[in-house]
Amino acid sequence: MVEVRLARVRKSFNSVLAVDDVSFTVAEGEFLALVGPSGCGKTTILRLIAGFERPDAGDILFSGRSVLALPAERRRVGMVFQNYALFPHMTVAGNVGYGLRFRPGSDRRARVAELLRLVDLAGLEDRSPAELSAGQRQRAALARTLAPEPQLLLLDEPLSALDAKLRERLRLEIRRLQRQLRITTIYVTHDQEEALAISDRVAVMNSGRIEQLGTPQEVYARPATAFVASFIGRGNLLSGEISEIESGKLVVRLLPQGPAVAVAAEATADCLPGEQVKFLIRPERIKLGAGLANRLRGRLKGVEFLGDAIWAYLDCAGNELRVKLAPGDLAVAEGEEVEVSFSPSDCYLLRHAARSP
Ligand code: ATP
Repeated sequence: MVEVRLARVRKSFNSVLAVDDVSFTVAEGEFLALVGPSGCGKTTILRLIAGFERPDAGDILFSGRSVLALPAERRRVGMVFQNYALFPHMTVAGNVGYGLRFRPGSDRRARVAELLRLVDLAGLEDRSPAELSAGQRQRAALARTLAPEPQLLLLDEPLSALDAKLRERLRLEIRRLQRQLRITTIYVTHDQEEALAISDRVAVMNSGRIEQLGTPQEVYARPATAFVASFIGRGNLLSGEISEIESGKLVVRLLPQGPAVAVAAEATADCLPGEQVKFLIRPERIKLGAGLANRLRGRLKGVEFLGDAIWAYLDCAGNELRVKLAPGDLAVAEGEEVEVSFSPSDCYLLRHAARSP
């Protein structure tokens, strides 16, 4: 097992700053997801760690030792990509055994059999990749990557070519396998739900930088920036102006012309009346009716049916509010008024995010 540390890593391609002063540590046996929108630098970070690119500045260390002088093939890193990259002319067993071709035949066969059992492909060793389903091909690719016993596993959008059901099943399998092998893993995805579901910790990237690194629960409940709040989960990010400051609580008048709501705040000492702030309220924390302290009236603009829930979209004095409700709970028609309420303690203040560009 290896610990991976990036220390102030920077990488540009001509005028594009792909990775901008990035530092983080992945502990031995940890599963880190790197998540962010297209072009934010995720793949470049994996390629730097694998040794396919060299940083312009900073260092990359495996268990405390810089690997910058080591070529890719000596870093003992296994990488899985979106498009399986299996050799089409070889059988499944041939593909999985490829990285073991210098080992004695009996050793190799035993290891291939073990890996195929591990990824649930036992019995398919003589098939060609063309005779496998997409999910089976990706499992074979995973087995091939794991065969030479890499100390670090890097996965770059490994499931994005698969349909939604299969993605969910395979992500569970990848997680199970990673736990069983206790291999340090970095998993790149643009799918925030996948990142939350699969990892020990999530690094949320934007424009070459890491905006927040924390457990899935932390980045969901306590986003560090407005970008994280809007990228992770479904959130209502509301803007307002502080009109009153009380201990542990702010009264915020919603912009553009909304009513005042109370927002819980741990530290109010450096808040100023008139200051603009943003706060996050999750759709599942908003209830129908006037039962909670913050009450808003809104016009129902639309409804989306999700099966076990619905999204209701309200216009509340110029703010769009997304509310998650149980099907059948909403008795009003589109265009009609509805009252909703939420608790001040479910509002998460993002003060400094409001000032950043
Ligand atoms: P995606 O999710 O779309 O794969 P990403 O987050 O993995 O995106 P990267 O592939 O790391 O993003 O790219 C980061 C930035 O660097 C992008 O603007 C990209 O166009 C640029 N870039 C990446 N590789 C190169 C390259 N070899 N030459 C020039 N620009 C590059």
